[in-house]
Amino acid sequence: MTFAPKTIIEPFKVRSVEPLPMTERDDRLRHLETARFNLFGLRAEHVTIDLMTDSGTGAMSQEQWAAMLAGDESYAGSRSFFELEAVVRDLTGKKHVIPTHQGRAAERILFGVVGQRGHVVPANNHFDTTRANVEASGCEALDLVIAEGKDPTSDHPFKGDVDLDRLDTLLRERGASVPLVLVTVTNNTGGGQPVSLANLRAVRALTQRHGVPLFLDCARFAENAWLIKEREEGQSSRSAEEIAQEMFRLADGAMMSAKKDGLVNIGGFLALDDDELARRCRNALILTEGFPTYGGLAGRDLAALAVGLREVLDERYLAYRVASVRYLHERLAAAGVPLLNPPGGHAVYLDARAFLPHIAPEDLPGQALSVALYLEAGIRAVEIGTVMFGHTDASGRQVPSPMDLVRLALPRRVYTQSHVDYVIEAVRYVHEERRSLRGLRIVDEPPTLRHFDCGFEPLEAAT
Ligand SMILES: *Cc1c(COP(=O)(O)O)cnc(C)c1O
Repeated sequence: MTFAPKTIIEPFKVRSVEPLPMTERDDRLRHLETARFNLFGLRAEHVTIDLMTDSGTGAMSQEQWAAMLAGDESYAGSRSFFELEAVVRDLTGKKHVIPTHQGRAAERILFGVVGQRGHVVPANNHFDTTRANVEASGCEALDLVIAEGKDPTSDHPFKGDVDLDRLDTLLRERGASVPLVLVTVTNNTGGGQPVSLANLRAVRALTQRHGVPLFLDCARFAENAWLIKEREEGQSSRSAEEIAQEMFRLADGAMMSAKKDGLVNIGGFLALDDDELARRCRNALILTEGFPTYGGLAGRDLAALAVGLREVLDERYLAYRVASVRYLHERLAAAGVPLLNPPGGHAVYLDARAFLPHIAPEDLPGQALSVALYLEAGIRAVEIGTVMFGHTDASGRQVPSPMDLVRLALPRRVYTQSHVDYVIEAVRYVHEERRSLRGLRIVDEPPTLRHFDCGFEPLEAAT
């Protein structure tokens, strides 16, 4: 007899606990008003289950905490830097490892160096800060994800894939003004959907033919590698680590927000081979982040990241991680909640337009749904739709983005299955009561990355 369990259990036990904040509905309404109905304006102590992001919100392991204690805080040439460098070199195969305090610092440095007015940076989808940094450098940020990647109902296993025909045409027509091609793994903005190895190999061949460098925006490289192992033909017998190593070796460089698959609360890096580009990036780094062996991080942060980058490729961890997301997705789908299919690696995305068909895209259904989840259940999600990617036109009307999604991102190793069950119950409740929800309008907004700070006002009920 052999016990073959079907239950995928959390591959860790808990030794240090943090109380879960509990609030009443009346208080939550007050908190929403104080925050101008922008969930970024809430205090975390007023949030029961915080699914706003999986970025920097994970729990570190005892090995990571131990490494932090042993971190070397030397200004230059810290041992912790060399530990990190060795791990990143082994993973990516790249010669130059440049730490940064988080992903957007790596973006700003890279595009500050390679970006030029009138040039264009294609990607499957640019993440919001990536787009902002590409545009701040004067470049156009062009999204070239496959058509299935824009269809929330498509069950295509690799909806993060790049549209090869469109990339080929772009490189043919404007290759000289493409400083690099970017592939986001997993494709965060497109729903955390993975990119297949076959697609990466084909993008590699195209960029090589046109002499354009290929970079990965690799915040969730391990989840992408695991989904390749699960979904791509011929990959199931390879380890997640081998697959990840191949992904990086297909690219000329990578930029990482280590707050995701680095399993740390802060950190990032650039990894690349080109000596001259690395020299220019290091110069930019010194100007705003710090000396090249710490890049705006403490030695202990570098040490924790070196451990996290190895731990994240533990297949028991990845199996549990992806299974938790799938569990949440399957239970909501079974209740008839409209979702972005299939589940990706780090989050479940509610399709707010289909969830709230009576709220026009201009009236921000994604925002309405996120506000309702907080008001009813103390759950904080994030709108990924018109607030984040649309804009206000000259006449003051909202120009909607292609989709209105609400993301429930699962922090790494933080919540248990009963927390997830609570979320399922709450989303089902709001779904049953959906007809009572109303849209919102934006009453003030900053010029860039408006979703972080704009203010909203609920619309009056239709009469
Ligand atoms: C989070 C993220 C970034 C930005 O990184 P920060 O660490 O938040 O600055 C860039 N790209 C992708 C794909 C991300 O998920």
